Amino acid sequence: MDVVAQAIERLAPGVPTRVAVRAAREEIEAVRRAVSRGREAAAPEAIAEAGALRARLVLGDAPRPVINATGVIIHTNLGRAPLSDRALNAVQAAAGGYSDLEYDLATGGRGSRSNHILDVVREVTGAEAALVLNNNAAAVFLALEAHARGREVLVARGESIEIGGGFRIPDILQASGARLRDVGTTNRTRVEDYARAVTDETVAIMRVHPSNFAQVGFTESPDARELASLARERGLLLINDLGSGALLDTSTYGLAREPLIGEALEAGADLVTFSGDKLLGGPQAGVIVGLAEVVAPIARRPLARAFRPDKMTIAGLRATLGHYLRGEAIDQVPVWQMIAAGTDTLQDRAERIIQGTSRLRLVESLAAVGGGSLPGQTLPSLAIEIDGPGNDAEDLAQRLRIAPRPVIGRIQADRVRLDMRTVLPRDDGVLRETLQELCGPRSGQSEPDEG
Ligand SMILES: *Cc1c(COP(=O)(O)O)cnc(C)c1O
Repeated sequence: MDVVAQAIERLAPGVPTRVAVRAAREEIEAVRRAVSRGREAAAPEAIAEAGALRARLVLGDAPRPVINATGVIIHTNLGRAPLSDRALNAVQAAAGGYSDLEYDLATGGRGSRSNHILDVVREVTGAEAALVLNNNAAAVFLALEAHARGREVLVARGESIEIGGGFRIPDILQASGARLRDVGTTNRTRVEDYARAVTDETVAIMRVHPSNFAQVGFTESPDARELASLARERGLLLINDLGSGALLDTSTYGLAREPLIGEALEAGADLVTFSGDKLLGGPQAGVIVGLAEVVAPIARRPLARAFRPDKMTIAGLRATLGHYLRGEAIDQVPVWQMIAAGTDTLQDRAERIIQGTSRLRLVESLAAVGGGSLPGQTLPSLAIEIDGPGNDAEDLAQRLRIAPRPVIGRIQADRVRLDMRTVLPRDDGVLRETLQELCGPRSGQSEPDEG
């Protein structure tokens, strides 16, 4: 191991010894596992090189920026929504120095961090009151914890869902101390089903937007207004977890209609919850909007402090909401720029990227919004397809992933495809360089021997 560690230190000058030793140990362990599975042992130089790469990664920053060429706009594994330039600057300014986060510049006294954000949330959503937390999971949990601890909440069987990453509605309800009462059937639930399920113990009706799956066929779910009337008659809270929650209408862009936050409020929900980094296009956050008398007790719960957003989130969210206030979200918020981009624009950009590289060609593609919105819905798009002998698609995809700026594509019909709709225009130059390095005239004519 010492020999390998020394070789790593020679290959990566400046790497601290303990990082080199650890990288050597892990690399040797990986070789041992490979050998025990019947693979051939790697050559010592290869082990040292892999170790040097590992050591450099340990010392580098993370998460690393990647180019999302998957065609999935809000990609949970790739960090969801990219921020606008303005939001990015606001985050940097807030994080890189002091700010009036909890300071009142007019009086010189203590201020409230939520003042920076709540007015803007109210303004863009039309809600009476708002609360911003770390993420929507916290928003849903805290809303239930504040209002339904020890009581019963009605949830339709078809909405008792899992979003992913451990967010399951029945589990969140249980953790909050609320009791779940299932209503209706998996595919059909009517207002009368809710009405019949109400008992003295019932405190709320909760609706959950089926973000990441679609039901087709013999289905029925109640009209939002009728359900709101029932809730009002019986003195129940109506909580609507929209998940993504949109401020702009996705149907303008040939997609189905993702529920609008303002509409959910107008239809009579007392509380509406949504994420900051899905269709809103801002930083990770969870937003609760609704009636003042219903939001206030949530803000007073001790856990509201544990779930409160930091200054970077507040700065980024406020700047993002500012785009909506100024009516410029389509032009400024990357998620919406990607949704709205015309295929002709994508084609112009793609043509400039592939110019002069014979192994690349353009093909029609289908992009998706992703991130728990509009499952099954697609946007027409354009992809760069990599063609060429001696390169199977898996191998090419991997080489793109380990490029200095990793490029994440997808494999379709045994070809690597890079969807242009999700590539940020500011990354076009890097993508072009990466592709030229990989498939340009030089390496394209004769494949390097990978020995
Ligand atoms: C995504 C989602 C959540 C969780 O939101 P996070 O911001 O990821 O915590 C909750 N409910 C629904 C319906 C969702 O789509």
